[in-house]
Formats: sequence, structure tokens, C-alpha cells
Amino acid sequence: MSVLNAFTDEFLQAARESHTYRSMRSICTPEADHVVMVDSAKARNTGDVLLLASNAYLDLCNEPGLKQAAADAVLKWGTGSGGARLTTGNKTPHDELENFIAKFKGAEAAITFNTGYMANVGTISALCCKQVCKDGSVSECVVFSDELNHASIIDGIRLSRAKCFVYKHNDIADLQRIIEETLAAKSQANTRYLIVSDAVFSMDGDLANLPELLRIAREYGMLLMIDEAHATGVVGKTGRGLAEHFGCEHADVTVGTLSKAVGCEGGFVAGKKNLIEFLKNKARSFIFTTAMSPAMAQGALNALRFIDSHPERILALQENVRFFCKALRVEGMEVPDVESAIVPILIGDEAVAMSVTEQLLEQGIMIPAIRYPTVSKGKARLRASIMATHSQKDLAYAAKAIADIVKNIRKA
Ligand SMILES: *Cc1c(COP(=O)(O)O)cnc(C)c1O
Repeated sequence: MSVLNAFTDEFLQAARESHTYRSMRSICTPEADHVVMVDSAKARNTGDVLLLASNAYLDLCNEPGLKQAAADAVLKWGTGSGGARLTTGNKTPHDELENFIAKFKGAEAAITFNTGYMANVGTISALCCKQVCKDGSVSECVVFSDELNHASIIDGIRLSRAKCFVYKHNDIADLQRIIEETLAAKSQANTRYLIVSDAVFSMDGDLANLPELLRIAREYGMLLMIDEAHATGVVGKTGRGLAEHFGCEHADVTVGTLSKAVGCEGGFVAGKKNLIEFLKNKARSFIFTTAMSPAMAQGALNALRFIDSHPERILALQENVRFFCKALRVEGMEVPDVESAIVPILIGDEAVAMSVTEQLLEQGIMIPAIRYPTVSKGKARLRASIMATHSQKDLAYAAKAIADIVKNIRKA
């Protein structure tokens, strides 16, 4: 057996044994609240499946007016951008999209990346790397990171090679304790500090405590970065995110994605003009890659305009989340108070969680099981995501199906 085969096969075998082996399902219809899936085991397609698994919370991937406008944009701008943003790739839609994001987020300026992943990796590695100062001394950065932060934040920190301290999830007292310990152990000269957190935690659906994080950041003179991937278009009365929800300021660095509620592709950072200029000059995942297609930039701009002029779509989403949580509780399931569109239903055992997901699919409902290593071992869960266009009938049906399956398994 070759070295490569031994290495890959050993990994895959271990994944199978621990019920963490991953494989993709295919959907043969557009992303929407109902889909049809390819059932490769039975070599045919499923019937109608109720999808409670999409990040397209506002159902904008499939919004007729936006699809037509995106098609028109392809006809006008062609398929690709042809170059990096700093060479020939930058087209009018990119500039207009960034101006609109800045306005939408109440920031001075914004920069877009091809994905939210690239936005985090590029921004953190640029902000937190070592820098040789004019006097020859070296300035470095220390990062404080929530233990449940998204993988792209973790990868950005690793790439920056900054020292990183992880604080307990959403635990401000623990953050403050770690900050105090770090400051006591280290001279502060030439050190920058960054506190970084998801806005909505992608596996639990809970919100970061932005007012308290702002207070800590100000008190210690540290930078604060918040990743609003699951918050943009979802949290706050008009979908502006955490600052709107809490009625407070924005963080110094606000990251977001155009690929979830916005229904397109891309990531962004909003903040002060000098931050954005800095990132255009320093973020490697911005500089060394081809610009997103101008048609996609136009599509994302149209979608943000739609969100801006349709606050009722966001209210419908928030109403659906409340309805679904209540329906689950009526069926005897425990769910936390959710203020995002992610409803975690804790199961515990990996194999049981997988079995619930499979049984739901047999009943025409798709809710993925999330397992180790995405969440800790023994904390496997169903992760339902709600869309503004789900009907209450669908949501009630799903809540009852989940409760019935879980009750049956626990009885057996
Ligand atoms: C999804 C997600 C990202 C990545 O965004 P993409 O545009 O899908 O690359 C980054 N951060 C968080 C918190 C996310 O949930």
C-alpha cells in the first residue's frame, strides 16, 4: 500500500468508526424551502423534501426579481472578472456593492472578498501579523478568541502567527480574567490586542454580547472584531446585525458574508476608511485572487437593496423562528431562546443524531445532524435553520416529527 493510501485510509476508517465520516448529499432543484434530493443509494430522486437546513434565511437565492436581475447582469458583464481587484478585475458593480455595504452597515467604508472565509483569513492575518516599526523594533499582536468561533477565524489567527488566548464561550468574566493575566505577564509596549467573536454562533445560534465586548475593548484599548455571517439580514429589526439588535455601536471591524441571508456569494469587512484602505493593501486573500465576477457583485448589491426595502421579510423570518421554537416546546422538546435563525436541538450521541436525521429524511424533512469535530464529542445535535418563507404548517409538521422520532428512540 502506498504511503498516501495508508494515510488517507487510516483517517477515513477512524472517521467511520467514530460516526464522523462526512459525505455530501446532492439537491437537484434550486435552494428554497422545499427541494428534491438525489438519493444515490436508491439511484433515484426523492420526492418533495422540506428543507430546514439552509443558510438562505430570507429565501433570496430563488427570488424571481433578483434571479432575473442577476441574469441581466451576466448578459451585461459576462461571466468572469478577468483579473484581481488591484489589476483589471475591479468593475463598477464591485465599487457600488462596497459603497452600499458601508451605508447598510453604517460604516465609513467597506471591502469585499470572494467568500466570508477569505474575509476572515485575510483580515485577521493582516491585522495581527508581526510588523517591524520605524525604529527597528517589532510590534506584535495578541488575540482573544471565543472558544466557539468559526473555523475561518481560527485559521486567520493561525495564519497570522499571533499568540492567541481562547476564552470560554460568551463568558465576559473569563475574557476579562484572561486579559488581566496576559497584561500582568507581559509588557504592553509594542503589543496590539484584538478581541474577536462570531456575532451569531453557527452551531448554537446564540448571540455574542456586543455591548459587553465593546465595554471591555474600550476599557483596555483593544480592537474588537465581530463576524456577522449569520447575523446580516437576520438579527435586528431591519437585519443590520448585532448593533441594531442591542442598540449599541458597531465593533471596530465588522465582517460579514453575502452567501447566507443575502443569497449570493462573497464576504465583506465594514469599518473606518483607513482600516479598509489598509486591508486593500495588506490582506493577501484580497490581493492574490481573481475578483468575484461582476455579475455576482451586481447580484449581491441587488439582494442587499431588496433587504433594505423589504424589512417585512426579516420580520417574517423572526416570527417563524418564534413559532418553530414554541411548536417544539409544545411537543416536549427543549430548545433555548433563539434570536437568530438557527435552532439547535441537542441530541448528544453521534449515532443517535445521525439516526434522527435519516428518519426525518424518510418523512420528507431535511435537518442535518452536526457532530464532532464541528461540535464537541457527545454534543451532537440537530441544527434546524429557519427561512422567512417556511409556512407555519411546515414548521408544525417538522416539530411534531422530530419529537416523535426522539421519543421513540429514547423509549427503545
Ligand atoms: C459561514 C461563515 C463564514 C464563511 O462565510 P462564507 O461566505 O461561506 O465563506 C465565516 N464566518 C462565520 C461565522 C460563518 O458562519
